[in-house]
Amino acid sequence: MKITFIGAAHQVTGSCTLVEWMDNRYFLVDCGMEQGENDFVMEELPVAPGQIEYVFLTHAHIDHSGMLPLLYKRGFRGTIYATAETENLCSIMLADSAHIQETDAAYETKKNLRHSGAVVEPLYTSEDAAETMDLFKPCEYGEIYMVDEGLSARFSDAGHLLGSSFVELFLEDRGERRKLVCSGDVGNLDQPIINNPQPVKEADYLLIESTYGTRIHETVNPPIPALTEILRETFGRGGSVIIPSFAVGRTQELLYFFREIKQKHLLQEYESFPVYVDSPLANEATAVFLQCSQVCLDPPTREIMAEGQNPIWFDGLYTTVSSDESKALNTDKTPKVIISSGGMCEGGRIRHHLKHNLWDSRNTILFVGYQANGTLGRIIYDGAESVKILGEEIDVKAQIALLQGISGHADRDGLIGWLSSFEKKPSYVFVNHGDDLSCSGFASYVQENMGLQSLAPYSGSEFDLLKGEWIRLTEPVIKKKSSASGSSTSAAKDKKNKAYIDLRAAVSALERYTEQLKGHANSEIKQLTKRIQDLMKK
Ligand SMILES: [Zn+2]
Repeated sequence: MKITFIGAAHQVTGSCTLVEWMDNRYFLVDCGMEQGENDFVMEELPVAPGQIEYVFLTHAHIDHSGMLPLLYKRGFRGTIYATAETENLCSIMLADSAHIQETDAAYETKKNLRHSGAVVEPLYTSEDAAETMDLFKPCEYGEIYMVDEGLSARFSDAGHLLGSSFVELFLEDRGERRKLVCSGDVGNLDQPIINNPQPVKEADYLLIESTYGTRIHETVNPPIPALTEILRETFGRGGSVIIPSFAVGRTQELLYFFREIKQKHLLQEYESFPVYVDSPLANEATAVFLQCSQVCLDPPTREIMAEGQNPIWFDGLYTTVSSDESKALNTDKTPKVIISSGGMCEGGRIRHHLKHNLWDSRNTILFVGYQANGTLGRIIYDGAESVKILGEEIDVKAQIALLQGISGHADRDGLIGWLSSFEKKPSYVFVNHGDDLSCSGFASYVQENMGLQSLAPYSGSEFDLLKGEWIRLTEPVIKKKSSASGSSTSAAKDKKNKAYIDLRAAVSALERYTEQLKGHANSEIKQLTKRIQDLMKK
């Protein structure tokens, strides 16, 4: 019985963990795509996809589900266990992801035809994504599913995204039992629409995320009054509010806020303001939210529905679909709200809206999510005076604002609070899904403050779940960055980054070394402790 850490090891995306529960029988927990810049190389799966019998999927976000169609393309024909809501969201998100793969490959092929002539194949096709959906088995929260001999599973609400789950895996091999809990992403408290993360009673082993493992969310004004104020100021100038938003989850939260503002008459001066959601994926996701099981919704949302109202629909909401309708939004100058994706302005229709609205000081560009380094969203948020969009240089004259207090992830105290709710604490806590510092920092915090053994393994590390010991602890392998940008500042930044990554690797190596000293002579351990303390004093 063995767990192998593949993806999201010391990084935030690409969640994928392999478990062998009997001799040569395998399942995965999540099968996510790496997104953005990652520092470390993710090891290939050590078994052929055809050998994997099951995937337990914690939630639909692409960094947890996005490689399922590739797994299918390479031979996986097993069953994917996930909640019905995760399945429904995956059916639109994987189709969207496949479409992006196909479009990108077609674009590269078109470019290549002008010189080498090489045809670029998409990572996977729409057909792969559609056929992957046939493998899903929809599950309900709280039910124990007897999956196979020596393997059962239960999902409980992780409060991170509609249908998101903690997965409890009950394993048995040669009469010995172990319970492994995988957190997926742990939700933040009091998010609109969805429930708070539910407690889990016990585990022998826990794999937990650490996106905010070393940080505490700032206490800020609640989002609805802040949003109301931004609308009031912008409409007062005769401008519009443009919101780059992630299509699934964040957009529906915004709709909930706008319904509250309208229903509670918080903005009486501009009561009938229109809200346009200009993103086909967001509109499909909204439909999934509207059809979800009531158990996925928090008590306030259920109350709204019990009164016969729709929690994410209101007068003045328009969902545009065709690109002509999208373009028409920018010729009509009535003050309005436009929600469009992508959330970091890297692609999608939002670029079109930014091009038409960024230059006008009456407008507000309202960010509602994290903007990763190097993205157009981050460049605008950081105060660029002008940006190039769709081939045109555009002045940034609009007001730039950030709606705070709406993170979908628990912070350090939230993670610790959830972990504290275990009546029987895990004997080992594995940490993943955080950047290098967050993973290691949270593992140390758990060890020091909760007295639980904890480590953040690098990709390829293996742990024997029966014996409770490491089989293999890998060294981090640093990804070679493409030198396409070639500028001296980015070279200097890479060098600085490399030095820092080397430092972190040395600290991790020391951590792994100390792990192996367990059970050694006290004198040896004391000697090393003193040397580390001396180094710290210096
Ligand atoms: Zn997520």
